[in-house]
Amino acid sequence: MPESLLVRGGRVVDATGERAADVLIEAGVVVAVEPGLHGDETLDAAGCVVAPGLVDLHTHLREPGHEEAETIETGARAAARGGFTAVVAMPNTEPAQDDPAVVAAVLAAGARSTCDVRAAGCITRGRRGTDLAPMGELHALGVRVFTDDGACVESAAMMRRALEYAGSLPGAVVAQHAEDAALCEGGHMHEGEWSSRLGIPGRPAVAEVSVVARDCLLAELTGTPVHFLHVSTEGAIALIRDAKQRGLPVTAEAAPHHFTLTDAECASFDPMFKVHPPLRSAADVAAVKIGLADGTIDAIATDHAPHAPETKERPFEEAPPGMLGLETALGLTLTELVEPGVVSLSDALALLSWRPAAVAGLVDHGGPVAPGRPAHLVVFDPAATWTVDPARLASKARNTPYPGRTLTGRVRHTLRAGEPVVIDGEAQR
Ligand SMILES: [Zn+2]
Repeated sequence: MPESLLVRGGRVVDATGERAADVLIEAGVVVAVEPGLHGDETLDAAGCVVAPGLVDLHTHLREPGHEEAETIETGARAAARGGFTAVVAMPNTEPAQDDPAVVAAVLAAGARSTCDVRAAGCITRGRRGTDLAPMGELHALGVRVFTDDGACVESAAMMRRALEYAGSLPGAVVAQHAEDAALCEGGHMHEGEWSSRLGIPGRPAVAEVSVVARDCLLAELTGTPVHFLHVSTEGAIALIRDAKQRGLPVTAEAAPHHFTLTDAECASFDPMFKVHPPLRSAADVAAVKIGLADGTIDAIATDHAPHAPETKERPFEEAPPGMLGLETALGLTLTELVEPGVVSLSDALALLSWRPAAVAGLVDHGGPVAPGRPAHLVVFDPAATWTVDPARLASKARNTPYPGRTLTGRVRHTLRAGEPVVIDGEAQR
């Protein structure tokens, strides 16, 4: 690495505001932020926003167990190309991240990758919902987010026990995939007008809303923070808004597909549009946007869910749920939320960087671009347009629901601890 690296000519945007400034980096740390600096090497940021790197609370990296779909290395590369400097790796691997050895292996592979990979730990062993995972041992390895994602913690008693135990672990948050399995049984898309018309069994909104209602009460009872993963319904968002007004320790995230796509897409019977929770009605999409704009929803999280091509070529009802998200999240946010004026650029970055960093307790990420801070940065051109081409994604998988979509806002450079892991849109390793 050169002695010093200069990110020159950009507009620095962080939680403290924005200003035109160069950013000088030495030994992985920001050492100066002001106009007119000099460095041994330079990255051009003219016309670009320079911001704290993006933080994804919800990434499926598939390793161990499904390396045919993604590995920690390829997923971290996709993250870097998407402007993310940290991701929380979901624990529904095989074996699951319910065991210190598995978590340690994920963290070790992440340390070699182009992104700061943090592991979420399971709430229950094997995500089976029957007995608690060794949360204390996982916490000792640095795990702060506990979730059975992919599965909902069905039992109220088990969720209560998990919250009581997590309450003794500093910084721990219990993250719920809020979908009542019994209400969703056999369902493959949102239950509504479109599911009736298409004859595809549905997953009703109430499956999400009822679990959110219950878990808000359990957050109140235990005082332990609950984070709601990928909220997608008007009803759940209203409950979370109300819980926050009552001062309950709840946070929530929404995925880009839940503010950009509706259940009408399923009319194509294209399994690329199959996801859990499912794409919802236009009214739900509008509610997600309002929730993002008014602060009810704390974070945009990708729910990046890679699948090998052959599995997504099956008929809709047999294909696995999930879609890619890391490389399109920033572009979708800028195009669908910032351009139409739903949120400001700075609020969009709050949703993609510093607020998720706070939820997961990632103190090295999301902080201001200031001397002494680790240089985890994203540099993006907010005006550049590009077209999503599945063949050009860094992810090992190709299951994006946005092929051919033109987006405004493109990542130019991503720096992980001062190392330019992406330069001019190209991954460096
Ligand atoms: Zn989930």
